[in-house]
Amino acid sequence: MASAYPIHLVLVGPPGAGKGTQAAMLESQLGLKQISSGDLFRENLKNHTELGQLAKIYIDRGDLVPDNVTIAMVEDRIQRPDCARGVIFDGFPRTLEQARALDEMLALQGSEIRVAPALVASDEVIIDRLTGRRVCRNCGAVYHVCYNAPKVDGVCDVCGGELCQRSDDLPETVRNRLYVYYKQTSPLIGYYYAKDLLIRVDADQPIETVKQAMLQAIGAVIGK
Ligand SMILES: [Zn+2]
Repeated sequence: MASAYPIHLVLVGPPGAGKGTQAAMLESQLGLKQISSGDLFRENLKNHTELGQLAKIYIDRGDLVPDNVTIAMVEDRIQRPDCARGVIFDGFPRTLEQARALDEMLALQGSEIRVAPALVASDEVIIDRLTGRRVCRNCGAVYHVCYNAPKVDGVCDVCGGELCQRSDDLPETVRNRLYVYYKQTSPLIGYYYAKDLLIRVDADQPIETVKQAMLQAIGAVIGK
């Protein structure tokens, strides 16, 4: 069995389940490094890396970045010293093919995925969360029309900027994002279940409750 570190985790869950929020919490609580596919793309594009240039060709065409490009970015990223204690993968793997590639690259390092927490959220809750989201055009602060409403309708509390709805959060787009998740990414739940790595956390609950449930469930596994 693997030694105490690195502790690599894969967060699985649909858009709107709160993966980013939970990953950031786990990063600070467990001292692991959060790696999100979005951050990886942005970093590679900004630094004009070879992989970044390659990804840009697809992004500019409006196509998905191929698995092998994404996988190469991850492979490069996890070599760095800040990943030595372990990584929280957020938004990667997105497909079964990526999950298998991740297992292979970790095996080459003599490590493995230790636990895969799945944030389980109902469609109604996801749609409600995402379509109610509003973002400040100026500073990027995030609100929700019901659960985290600004003091003045449509105006940012922080900077007074105008709040808008991202095109990603329009009802038709949210349905399509869910469709893509079910088709492409949800098979990961079965994949990690079969490896006895899956723990399910009810993500319909308030954020604080989900945090506590996550820490408890993960602690029970990695504390072994
Ligand atoms: Zn603002």
